[in-house]
Amino acid sequence: MNSEMLSVEEARDAVLARIGRLELETVEVLESLGCVLAVDVVSDIDVAPFDNSAMDGYAVRAADTAGATSDAPIVLRVVDHIAAGRVSDVTVGPGEVARIMTGAPVPAGADSIVMVEHTESLENAGSTGGTVAIQREARLDDHIRRAGEDVRVGETVLHAGEVVNAASVGLMAALGFAKVDVYRRPRVAIVSTGDELVGITETPGPGQIRNSNTYSLAAQVLAAGGEPHLLGIARDNEADTRALLARAPEFDLMVTTGGVSMGDFDVVKDVLEQIGVLDFWKVAMRPGAPQTYGTVGGTPFFGLPGNPTSTMVGFELFVRPAIRKMRGFTTLDRPRTKAVLSEDVRKKADRRYYLRGVIERAADDGSTCAPVYTARLSGRQSSAMLTAMHHANCLISLPEGLSEVAAGTIVECVRLDMEEGTP
Ligand code: AMP
Ligand code: MG
Repeated sequence: MNSEMLSVEEARDAVLARIGRLELETVEVLESLGCVLAVDVVSDIDVAPFDNSAMDGYAVRAADTAGATSDAPIVLRVVDHIAAGRVSDVTVGPGEVARIMTGAPVPAGADSIVMVEHTESLENAGSTGGTVAIQREARLDDHIRRAGEDVRVGETVLHAGEVVNAASVGLMAALGFAKVDVYRRPRVAIVSTGDELVGITETPGPGQIRNSNTYSLAAQVLAAGGEPHLLGIARDNEADTRALLARAPEFDLMVTTGGVSMGDFDVVKDVLEQIGVLDFWKVAMRPGAPQTYGTVGGTPFFGLPGNPTSTMVGFELFVRPAIRKMRGFTTLDRPRTKAVLSEDVRKKADRRYYLRGVIERAADDGSTCAPVYTARLSGRQSSAMLTAMHHANCLISLPEGLSEVAAGTIVECVRLDMEEGTP
């Protein structure tokens, strides 16, 4: 066991070095949204599959429309009326057109489409046997979507390692992929510890509080694309804690809250050492110095501190990147933005602070295209209080080594409001 204080980066790197990507699984295409593709998606069709009209109008032979204007329209004979979904068996000959709807296959003989807006229906123009006045000269290929224009047969449309977005889902649907292989979402066990905790439907008695950490953590797991499993509350004794921690191997990851400090009833570290491996348990950060990491039966284990904000910040910095790594992502951390701190902050010099803050774009004078941001605290910074976390859109990172950070200092903000890959 290592009881030295690690830096946040040392702890994060140590954790991530021990975490691997999970195996792939086959899911319904819609369930792949937000997941990392484990395979290339190769098309066995052209998209569009056939030449089709991009407009409602008339399929014409361009040469027949030469010189047509609204003052001097050219009258042509309608030989078919083609709705989307029907293939015409008519060949458009000289002097002929076919009425055609968007998405309908272009009939043989036609080489251009005239929009309905540039025509005037004469007799029965909507149907076979009628006539229509063409008011504009068509060029070859106007408003025709050619077969294979978007995707060619044999083309690799999506690549393994890509993150599936809504358009990828649509593309896969167009190509007939009802299911696809992605890296699996981790099953994450959540355990809260504490004799003082009661369930959220209960009324706390004297000295008791409701168990909120299980829920904030489960929400964070969901948001990170993991599958939370709520195992309930372990009381602050070894037998109870051991019973729940021993279940870790049923899952891909276990996260506990509380019971890792210096209190007389903080037994998580002891139990971890008895039934698993305790790698480290102190990180030079605030909130949440006792960030505990280890394994139980090979399953990665995070013992986050119990104060509600410490729990959430610990999750953000260590558990979320681990979940992303398991899911096959290569970008693991939130985007960071530099901002001008708008108030003086005092801190302990020996550790990194992650203050709950609001980052905003400052009004700029238009002299630069680089946006300027300011950051302020989002509320009172006690780690026992969740309200400042609720109002926060960032964590303001203040480096170790400083005991005072003055207003006007440029600081780095972890963007809780942004996903990886957003600017
Ligand atoms: P601990 O880390 O166990 O010493 O807990 C630190 C503080 O967080 C104490 O005030 C606990 O009551 C509180 N706490 C611990 N677990 C939870 C929880 N699951 N929900 C809400 N508060 C908690
Ligand atoms: Mg406790």
